[in-house]
Amino acid sequence: MTTYDVLIIGSGPGGYIAAVRCGQLGLKTAIIEKYPTLGGTCLNVGCIPSKAVLESTELYQKATHQFTEHGIDADNLRADLPRMMARKDRVVKKVCDGVVFLMKKNKVDVLHGVASFVDATTVQVEPSDGGSGEKQLLTAKNIIIATGSKPSTLPFITLDKERIITSTEALALRELPQHLIIVGGGVIGLELGSVYARLGSKVSVVEYTDAIIPTMDRTLGKELLRSLKKQGLEFYLSHKVTAVERTGDTVKLTAQGGPSAELQLEGDYCLVSVGRRPYTDGLNLAAAGVELDEKGRVKVNEDLQTTVPGIWAIGDVVRGAMLAHKASDEGVYVAELIAGQAPEVNYLLIPGVVYTWPEVAGVGYTEEQLKEQGKTYKVGSFPYSASGRALAGADTEGLVKVLTDAQTDEILGVHMIGARIADIIAEAVGIMHFRGAAEDVGLISHAHPTYAEAFKEACLNAAGIGALNM
Ligand code: FAD
Ligand code: NAD
Repeated sequence: MTTYDVLIIGSGPGGYIAAVRCGQLGLKTAIIEKYPTLGGTCLNVGCIPSKAVLESTELYQKATHQFTEHGIDADNLRADLPRMMARKDRVVKKVCDGVVFLMKKNKVDVLHGVASFVDATTVQVEPSDGGSGEKQLLTAKNIIIATGSKPSTLPFITLDKERIITSTEALALRELPQHLIIVGGGVIGLELGSVYARLGSKVSVVEYTDAIIPTMDRTLGKELLRSLKKQGLEFYLSHKVTAVERTGDTVKLTAQGGPSAELQLEGDYCLVSVGRRPYTDGLNLAAAGVELDEKGRVKVNEDLQTTVPGIWAIGDVVRGAMLAHKASDEGVYVAELIAGQAPEVNYLLIPGVVYTWPEVAGVGYTEEQLKEQGKTYKVGSFPYSASGRALAGADTEGLVKVLTDAQTDEILGVHMIGARIADIIAEAVGIMHFRGAAEDVGLISHAHPTYAEAFKEACLNAAGIGALNM
């Protein structure tokens, strides 16, 4: 039986980054993955493939809707979905192969198979196909559970994965839906809804709450709703879905709410994107004494240790945002803790990004949270319509909103929507990491003309110093 310092179950951005860091720190490490490719949800069926098709369709959208504004006539434009998907598959292969390289480089042993606990220090690895291949037993001083999450559904919806689908199937469609019905106006619904709306599908989003992306600062949902409606997506907010049924190639959705009390929609595909559930199936956690919380997540303390010392858990399978960078930050945290270091993760400063067009991002407290806390705060904002760079790029939809402590001017939250926001939010995270004030940002030189200047202007506005460009 081979003994390791660290055994990691799951090779997503939580597991593989933990493995890299363990390798760097000189720990004898192995990673177990049940699928043939490494990289988990994010690289195989999540972040990377979705961004690949978002990029392709964004180019198509620009070519069909914005080129004329720039004085470019492009005739006979045609989007070829199978070719877009083939490019996406090539991108996925490249990033997954990259993880294999990283494991080799950092001397991490890779085992393919389903891992399950035998006891608190022993894990069994069985062939994924359940076949007659050899089972292996491994022991380790430390075991990191990084088994991620799977799509959730509603109790009355059967996901047949052909017409009633999850994000995984939506990222691999070979034909363009005529009418894609989406249950859930969160991140997946809006990103994948955008992909198909840009290609010409009719897209209807049915959302339970009264806003889209409801967990982000409310301003962002309002602005994004306006933009997406202009792009042709239809929204049914405050609607409770009661049935989704398939007959042949037709899917029928029924929901309660709205002016007519009952909504009926008929389409050829229905994407169910109502969140994801932590995945611990088949792990046999009971054999190790690892407990779950009331939401089925692996219970952890503030050090990400489970109810059993020496067994840790990170990423989507534990509490907190289901984001790749959060999983990776936790992977580094646990690896460094095992190596005797004193790491830190600041959960308040984990940014959230939605890759629609315009892009949306937020970090820190939302205005709603500050109100709830009874905090006295100031709001500074700057519209993209006043940005020289946005005007030059003909991308003027959007704004930056900065929330500061009314007494100290410290930045408490930054919420943005607009072109290239996914990258600009990193500046806000950096400033907030050092507990910077809005006035500090006003003192930093920002290249002109850039979209990032909008963040500086919003900070000047929050600090009560007149905006320089408005
Ligand atoms: P996962 O990535 O889910 O990896 C877990 C791995 O564990 C899987 O490979 C699984 O096969 C393996 N495993 C499970 N059980 C066992 C077992 N018993 N034995 C062996 N292996 C096992 N996040 C972002 O930050 N940005 C984005 O743009 C983004 N886009 C997304 C788009 C989509 C469509 C989806 C679905 C998700 C997206 N996410 C995004 C979320 C992101 O993918 C997850 O937060 C992230 O993958 C979580 O990482 P993880 O390591 O915790 O788990
Ligand atoms: P989500 O939590 O973002 O959105 C789910 C939406 O479904 C919410 O708006 C919710 O109100 C709605 N909903 C819930 N029950 C409903 C019902 N019965 N009827 C109608 N609407 C209902 O979840 P998701 O979009 O499925 O994404 C899952 C996870 O994947 C998220 O946690 C997200 O962080 C992650 N992800 C991140 C990115 C990114 O970072 N860009 C992209 C995709 C996915």
